[in-house]
Amino acid sequence: MPAQRTLIKASHIIAHDGVKHRHLRDGVVVLEGDTIVFVGRKFEGTTDNVIDATGRIAAPGFIDTHIHMAGSPLDKSFVEDHGKRNFFNSGLFEMLPARSAGQDTAANHACVEFSMLELLHTGTTTALELGPVPEYTAEQAARFGLRTYVGPMYRSGRWHTDDGRTVKYAWDEAAGMAAFERAVAWIAKNDGTHGGLVKGLLSPSQVDTCSEALLRRTREAGTRLRVPVTLHVSQSVNEFHEMVRRHGCSPIEWLRDIGFLAPEVILGHAIILAGGSWAQYAGDDIGVMAESGCSVAHAPWVFARRGIAMESFSRYLKAGINLSLGTDTAPQSMIEAMKFAAVVSKIIDRQTETATAADVFNAATLGGAKAIGRDDLGRIARGAKADLVIWEGESLWMSPLRDPVKNIVFSAQAADVNTVIVNGRVVLRDGAIPGAPDIKAMARKLQQSGERVWANIARGDWAGRDADALSPQSFEGWDGEEPGSKTLAD
Ligand SMILES: [Zn+2]
Repeated sequence: MPAQRTLIKASHIIAHDGVKHRHLRDGVVVLEGDTIVFVGRKFEGTTDNVIDATGRIAAPGFIDTHIHMAGSPLDKSFVEDHGKRNFFNSGLFEMLPARSAGQDTAANHACVEFSMLELLHTGTTTALELGPVPEYTAEQAARFGLRTYVGPMYRSGRWHTDDGRTVKYAWDEAAGMAAFERAVAWIAKNDGTHGGLVKGLLSPSQVDTCSEALLRRTREAGTRLRVPVTLHVSQSVNEFHEMVRRHGCSPIEWLRDIGFLAPEVILGHAIILAGGSWAQYAGDDIGVMAESGCSVAHAPWVFARRGIAMESFSRYLKAGINLSLGTDTAPQSMIEAMKFAAVVSKIIDRQTETATAADVFNAATLGGAKAIGRDDLGRIARGAKADLVIWEGESLWMSPLRDPVKNIVFSAQAADVNTVIVNGRVVLRDGAIPGAPDIKAMARKLQQSGERVWANIARGDWAGRDADALSPQSFEGWDGEEPGSKTLAD
């Protein structure tokens, strides 16, 4: 039986002309099975189904290149507003170990399930997951229909602090190599399964926790398995200067020197740079990245909320670095990632005409596709995979509408995501995921995971502080009985 043909008739289509995104008014997109077979003004052939998107916008789905589905939902309500100056505002060395101590498998699973919904409801159609539960993530990707690159994380050591001032490292090279071998075996077995929806990703954790040998073997495996490689790098001032201390060069220069940088490599963050103001270290990491052809997964919110900014999105772009966008923490919304990437860059540049809606939309679609070596994703073009989002065009946030991309980047909310199609399957329709469990029930499951994590914060904190000591409530609790209950007239 031939694949079903679906015609989408939309008032606005962000179509791709083979070179770049274009704005097509009153057009049609035709899908056949998992592929886009036509985009243009008028389709002459026969179709089986019609999706009427009159008054709406059909746009390519987002490619989120940096996600921790299995943990990020638990950042919410705990990690915000705290990052010590001793760690140059980073939450990696105190907040993350504390939050992770009480996280069990049930919490990982609740987070992955919840994240799938969060990502689809905000227009992500391809997700790069760096996480601890590959099997469960792949199952849930197939269940919800989210195209997912699954990267089981591994590393040769871990960081810790025992005084809240210095970062120390505990190494276990053999354990790191064994975890790498497991990741390679998992990828070899699962890459391309579920109709191509589930793909493999090599994910050595962080530049400062992976040995040179582990990174060299990772790159060889990436070439052999033909899968993208990603790791966290230049994400804190402490990490930067630890690498300077170890190797006498910046983390990114070190990756270049060991032959790690290449077009199939995605650097997570790459914010604290030689040549930037955060590290105050001479050099030109932007030039090194541009020269190597690697991509950057830029997750602006996780830094912006701690007062840290890329210097700057527009400067990287101008240098020729392929920029993609990621979420990294909660909330996992590419709508917000685009907005923060644009606005933070404008602030750093002190210009409004840089990091435009077009620039960040390109990063969220074409930049992500290039990062993973897929010219069949991130675009509405003949022959591309049928991964699309239909946005409301008439709503509280989207009206009035003259430029759909400006509205999506600067005004849209998750509620404006009306329909999501991945690999030709409608996975979200009229703002709801068909067959998905009740969101309240899932929220309750996540709440229970949160309660367990918050109860165990002291276990993961070097000073044994509890959740309220490490991350005080925004407002003090009140039983309503104290003098504060005096009426204003008193
Ligand atoms: Zn991350």
